[in-house]
Parts: sequence; structure tokens; C-alpha cells
Amino acid sequence: MEIIKLKDLYFKKYIKEIELGKVIKQLATTIKADLDPNEVPLFVAILNGSFMFAADFVREYNGDCEVSFVKLTSYEGTESSSKVKQLIGVNADLTGRTVIILEDIIDTGNTLQEIYEVFKNHSVKSLKIATLFFKPDVYKKELHIDYIGKNIEDKFIVGYGLDYNERGRNLSAIYQLTTPPKMKNIVLFGPPGAGKGTQATLLKEKYDLVHISTGDVFRYNIGNNTELGKLAKTYMDKGDLVPDEVTIKMLKAEVEKNSEAKGFIFDGFPRTISQAEALDAFLAEKDERINGMVALEVPQDLLVERLLERGKTSGRTDDQDEGKIRNRFEEYETKTAPLKHYYEKQNNYYGVNGVGSIEEITQRLAEVFDKL
Ligand code: AMP
Repeated sequence: MEIIKLKDLYFKKYIKEIELGKVIKQLATTIKADLDPNEVPLFVAILNGSFMFAADFVREYNGDCEVSFVKLTSYEGTESSSKVKQLIGVNADLTGRTVIILEDIIDTGNTLQEIYEVFKNHSVKSLKIATLFFKPDVYKKELHIDYIGKNIEDKFIVGYGLDYNERGRNLSAIYQLTTPPKMKNIVLFGPPGAGKGTQATLLKEKYDLVHISTGDVFRYNIGNNTELGKLAKTYMDKGDLVPDEVTIKMLKAEVEKNSEAKGFIFDGFPRTISQAEALDAFLAEKDERINGMVALEVPQDLLVERLLERGKTSGRTDDQDEGKIRNRFEEYETKTAPLKHYYEKQNNYYGVNGVGSIEEITQRLAEVFDKL
């Protein structure tokens, strides 16, 4: 359940795509069962919001039907100062037809009432209303709604055709308005040796954030010979990733230890898609989110050189053996690199050139951090 930002507002995932699918299938089945078997209904979807609902609905409707789209526009009248409403797109001859209006959402019912009046004047055989979402607490009209996909509480929603100032229509799930997050949470990303640790140490001071390096936490546990340390060591020694379940649990505990933090720099986490999903869900529970993934981009040849150099002084055995280093890159390419796409999809990926002096790179990162 992640939190997203559209223009100036934040939204939390509210109804998943899979649940929407079930609701729509149920609606289509109920409507089909209610109609005479030989009836060919005309479904009229109200633009813009119901385009996605209509597309999925008619695919679930198991029988012959026609589909049409209409739009209610309002413009300033020339004769008077009042707004004039007009329904555009009603081209078919509706006389004697069974017309079913498809709405994405009905709240007060004002728009619906106006649309209903237009259709009533077309000598239709029957006129019914189906809506994907209905807000029972705010509906003010007498007009009976024949089919309701799902009743929802009176909170602003977007996604699946519904918009906030035209944004968010393309989201495949429904998101609900939520309070703005208070933290600044950044995933510092990049292959082993990219300089994440060095940069995180500098940036956490500048932005008053808590730096969590999962690698450091594992090494601390190994140093203290804890159960977690013993387990992690068997993977780390080979350059393999520690299993997600173990890592995610540990990460959550580290975050909980710092409940007063203004935000976190996550370094070395997430490293797999399931870690990223777990992190999003965990933060959303606190009405928080990842502000951005900031990635240090460095060519691989330079990285091997840097790691071997670091291995001479860091005491890290995984930095001293080229075989282990290569394995870490392999783990990175197969399991971790796909995370770039995960954050890109959320519009949340920021690549930064990771070649240069430490100060230069801090400066480049700070420019991105400032914006997030
Ligand atoms: P690092 O210090 O980030 O280079 O991590 C060193 C090693 O710790 C990695 O090669 C993994 O074995 C383990 N490790 C650190 N973070 C994670 C993570 N998020 N998931 C799985 N293993 C991790």
C-alpha cells in the first residue's frame, strides 16, 4: 500500500486492481441476469471518469451490447450569466432502447440528475443507472441507483479513470487522499563501491536524517556474534544476499528504534523488489513514503578498482577477493538493478553521476535531496 503524490497532494492506495476486477465482474453478471436474454442494452458511459470502468465492464458483460460515451460540458451562456449544461455525444436513436448509464462515481448525485433528465426525454424503453462507486453519506437525490459496485466513505479518491485536476486517471488502482508525510525518506542506491556509505554519512548531517546501512547492521551483528550475525555471515562471506525475510525484519526494527527521526537515508536497502514492496507498505502504515530513490551511477570497471582498494584498509573480506566482488555484482544486476524500474514507475528515480571527487558528488546529491 504505497503513498503517491499528484501535484500538491498525497494519496494512499485504497482499492487494489484485483478487487476492482471482482467488483466489476459482479456488476456485469448481475446486470446481465436482470435483463431479458434477448435484450441488447446500450451502455452509455459518462466521460471522462468512466472510460476505464466502461472498458473493463463491457469485456466482462457476457452478451451482445452497444457502448457509447457522453460528456456533460458546461459553458457560460451568451444571453444570461448562468452556466448552461449540455450533454454531447448522444448520437444513437434511443427510442425503445434499454439504456444503462455507466458512472464511475456518484456522490451528491447532481451531475447524474442532469444526465438522467436528458435521457428520460428520449422515449427510451427503460433507463437504469450503474455506478462503480457510491458515497451513501453524501447522496442527496431521490433518484434510485439500480446497480452499485461498491459503497465507499466520503473521502476524495483518484485513479482508475478518476482524477485530481486531471492527474491520476491512468493509475490502475484507487487511491485515497491522505495527510502529507512528515519525513524525508531517501533510498541511496547504486552498485557495491558506488560510494553510498561515504555520501550517506555526509548527507545525514546536512539534512538531519538517520542513516541506516543494512550492511553495517549485519557487520555489527557479526562483530558481536549474535544469532542474526551468525546467520548473515554465511551469506555475506560468499557475496550472496541475506534472505529477504531476515533483512526486512531487521530493517523494520532499525526504523522503529528511531521513531523521532525526521527521515531516513536507506543505504543498501532495498536490494530486491520484495524488499521495496515491504518498505513501501511499512512506511504507508505510518502515513509516510519514500521521497525518492537517488542512484549513484558509476561504470563497473571503476567499481572493481575502488572495492579492491577499499579492501586493503576496510578489513572487509568481501572487498578483498575479486571472485566475491564479481558475485556481488551479479547479485546486483539480477536482483537489485530492477529496482530502478520499480521507482521509475512511481516517478521517483533520480540518477546522479557518481564519478568525481567526494565533494562534487555530495553537491550533486544535495541538489536532488533539496528537491525531494
Ligand atoms: P553492503 O555493505 O551494503 O555492501 O552489504 C554487504 C553485504 O551485506 C551484502 O553483500 C549482503 O550479503 C548483505 N546485505 C546488505 N544489505 C542487504 C539487503 N538489503 N538484502 C540482502 N542482503 C544484504
